[in-house]
Amino acid sequence: MAALNDLVIDDVTVITMDSERRTMRDAAIAVESGAIVYVGPAAGLTRRLEQMPRLPGRGRIAIPGLVNAHTHAAMVLFRGYADDLMLQEWLTTKIFPIEAELTPDDVYWGTLLACAEMIKSGTTTFADMYFFMDEAARAVEKSGIRASLCVGMGSLAESAGGSSGFDAVLERGSSLCESWNGAAGGRITTMLGPHAPYTCSVPFLSAVGERARGLGVGVHTHISETFREVDEIRSAHGMSPVEYVESSGLFDVPTLAAHCVAVSDDDISILAKHGVRVAHNPGSNMKLASGVAPVEKMLAAGVAVGLGTDGAASNNNLDMVEEMRLAGLLHKVTRLDPTAVPAHACLEMATSGGAACLGLADRIGSIEIGKRADIVLLDFGAPHLSPAGIADLMSHVVYSASGADVSAVVVDGCVLMDDRKLTTLDEREIMAEVECRASRLAEEANGKLRK
Ligand SMILES: [Zn+2]
Repeated sequence: MAALNDLVIDDVTVITMDSERRTMRDAAIAVESGAIVYVGPAAGLTRRLEQMPRLPGRGRIAIPGLVNAHTHAAMVLFRGYADDLMLQEWLTTKIFPIEAELTPDDVYWGTLLACAEMIKSGTTTFADMYFFMDEAARAVEKSGIRASLCVGMGSLAESAGGSSGFDAVLERGSSLCESWNGAAGGRITTMLGPHAPYTCSVPFLSAVGERARGLGVGVHTHISETFREVDEIRSAHGMSPVEYVESSGLFDVPTLAAHCVAVSDDDISILAKHGVRVAHNPGSNMKLASGVAPVEKMLAAGVAVGLGTDGAASNNNLDMVEEMRLAGLLHKVTRLDPTAVPAHACLEMATSGGAACLGLADRIGSIEIGKRADIVLLDFGAPHLSPAGIADLMSHVVYSASGADVSAVVVDGCVLMDDRKLTTLDEREIMAEVECRASRLAEEANGKLRK
């Protein structure tokens, strides 16, 4: 009898993103126990595989599940609450006050909404940094999506009062790893999340590195998001943020650094030397007017670059199909060069690049035998994707499609959505709950600000 995570996708066009970047028409993908066991001509399926439950592929394009390499999922609760403000004003007058009102249940429901949104737009894995992450993990477990979770940790506020705060923060981050790393059948992995150079002291970053080594996990942080950050770290410490973090020894453990907007050539050499992975967030960087990360230089230096949405308060959605398009367009206009960051590079960042960012390159990021079956089907029967016959399919996915064209999503061989209907989550219930919670949060934050 076929198990829940056995299936065949037949008669489909596949963009594999394997090492040869093969595209196959009239193909089939077979999945057993959540792993891909066959990708090739539909005629080549064995009789045994042919008898597995079917997900129809006709008229659909299969791509590897998209990897959102940097987000703060539960911030969907603040979508549209604070826009068109300077970064510092945005943070101090809007985001920090409303975040102070968050309860663990709010984070659970916010993360569920984010999971629903991500599944519906083709994301199968995300890297998340936030608070109350046990609740986020419960939401991930329920939704069926894959995620790498960490608690956002800062030391500078706490360390002002002594080292006990510092230790308590590190314990919170570690305890998530101890409870959840490898949970949900391996769908949940964890990292330690030192927030940023301007919120973490060097001794704290060193302690995080040591703890990460002990736990056997990587770290997820923000580095050089803005030029202001570079100026501040330079005037306080005489180093760039990248040099500051390097001086702590943190880069000796696998490190995922979000943004890296304001990095010099020397910084890029340091990132490459230590194998630091970078999450590029074009939508958030544009909206907060942070600047443009030198993605081509980083890729040329051999840095693994993934793509992220950042939180929904600064994007304002979690649609990775849109993010690919933004990445392609941003670098072209910045460089005044239409050949900059072409479609295949955008799709690479959103799939194999993201998998490398999360330390999951051996498990996800491409459709090939042996990988976990994280597969997204886009419906190509729409006017804005026609004609498809003469088009470069990767161009269609990156420049013409949107997340709304995603019609089916498979994670670990389980169908989480088909014909745009979610199988694990009740989106109406989640939206109603989030509506109430967001109103309460805004009322509480605004009430305190008025006092
Ligand atoms: Zn962020």
